[in-house]
Amino acid sequence: MDYLPIFLDVRDRLVVVVGGGVVAHRKCEQLLKAHARVRVVAPELCADLAVFRDLGRIEHRPVPFSAPQLEGALLVVAATDAEAVNQQVAAAARERGLLVNVVDDGPRSSFIFPAIVDRSPVVVAVGTSGTSPTLARRVRTQIEALLPGRLGQLADYAGRWREAVRRALPGLSARLRFWDGFFNGPVARNLLAGDTAGADQAMRASLEAAREASARPPGEVYLIGVGPGDPDLLTLRAQQLLQQADVLLHDRLVPEAILERARRDAVKINVGKTPGRHEHTQEYINGLLLEHARAGRRVARVKGGDPFVFGRGGEELAVLREAGIPVVVVPGITAALGAAASAGLPLTHRGLSQAVTFVTATGAHAIHLDWKSLSQPHHTLVFYMGGARADYIAGQLLANGLPPSTPVALLERATWPDERVLTTTVAALPAFVAEARPRSPTLMVVGEVAALAQVKDLAGEMAEASRDTGNIA
Ligand code: SAH
Repeated sequence: MDYLPIFLDVRDRLVVVVGGGVVAHRKCEQLLKAHARVRVVAPELCADLAVFRDLGRIEHRPVPFSAPQLEGALLVVAATDAEAVNQQVAAAARERGLLVNVVDDGPRSSFIFPAIVDRSPVVVAVGTSGTSPTLARRVRTQIEALLPGRLGQLADYAGRWREAVRRALPGLSARLRFWDGFFNGPVARNLLAGDTAGADQAMRASLEAAREASARPPGEVYLIGVGPGDPDLLTLRAQQLLQQADVLLHDRLVPEAILERARRDAVKINVGKTPGRHEHTQEYINGLLLEHARAGRRVARVKGGDPFVFGRGGEELAVLREAGIPVVVVPGITAALGAAASAGLPLTHRGLSQAVTFVTATGAHAIHLDWKSLSQPHHTLVFYMGGARADYIAGQLLANGLPPSTPVALLERATWPDERVLTTTVAALPAFVAEARPRSPTLMVVGEVAALAQVKDLAGEMAEASRDTGNIA
């Protein structure tokens, strides 16, 4: 992070703006919204600034810039169209230890104005560390579209009730639950629709209900699939529930970038199975789920991909149901779908494949597979957890009649920044895997469609790039 985002209290503090044109006017407008005292130093003012002066909203010093004009300032803004003047302002400000913004000049600025979405008191500030104001505006527009127009009123309303809620619900967990319900439920709905009376009524009812419920807190479990790794592939519901959970039990494959979407004060427990290290048994995980839920906590069981595709989600669901604990299952993009999209590999394709099967060939599962039917033509096979068993898988497929030239794609760490996509054939697979040593997690796709995968091999690309640049690296 190159800049520290903060919200500055400038009420009644002096900000000196040097320049009298439209850009200076824009800055003044923002500063006045935040109740700053604004001094404009400029021989002449544009029409809009002249209005501010006439209304007494700004102090105008109709002189060329000189350092003493900065006397008493908290912040300085250099907004003239003369670069030399802006430089002089920046230098004078820095000499006095003042923070300065030089319009359109990141390197000379010690602070920058973010693009903002203003739903006061809710304000969202967007910055790109000065790299692209256009991008900042685009992001702002996207956020604009996401945030309801009456969000500010909603925040004010919550602020007014805050103390009463704190008194009614002294427990932190009950209070968090209440506020989650507040923003998701009828109070917010009514307020956002402009119905304040309806909101008041719903507020009193839900606070009373929460007070009663807090005497007997009901825990619950969210079985959340978070997709193959890229946080952008999270579902909205996964994000919401990650934010609500008090405790997270997550697998090894869930990246930090996704865990960061959880509440900051949530407890995160890694129950992942690391190859070669001590394994937490499924019984142990089930035990933890029950323990936390029974203590009245909201537990997120966070799994890579989809919880019901080779994720043992079914077993956990059964245990929790048996214990009478409410469970929400959130589907995720399973690795096969995420990886296929990322590699540009259609799992079914007219003329090439009319069926797709997700297979796991590890341990005891392999015994039950019908290799004869898996080895049919025009059929795509996606092997999960297959890396270590490539020899066995290739052997079974060849023995059951799959042509040796059938393409295979290895999709390694799909959707992660260091993803690799490699292709080979069934006959060459064992030797290829021994050579390429795919890292965990890897999927194997077998079938004609595998030839359509876009090969991505970072190491190879880097080697090629360094050849192109004459081996500088
Ligand atoms: N529930 C998960 C699968 C868990 S089994 C899902 O629906 O995706 C773990 C296996 O999934 C790994 O051995 C690997 O074969 C596959 N896998 C998970 N994430 C992957 C990724 N980002 N890239 C490639 N394979 C992945």
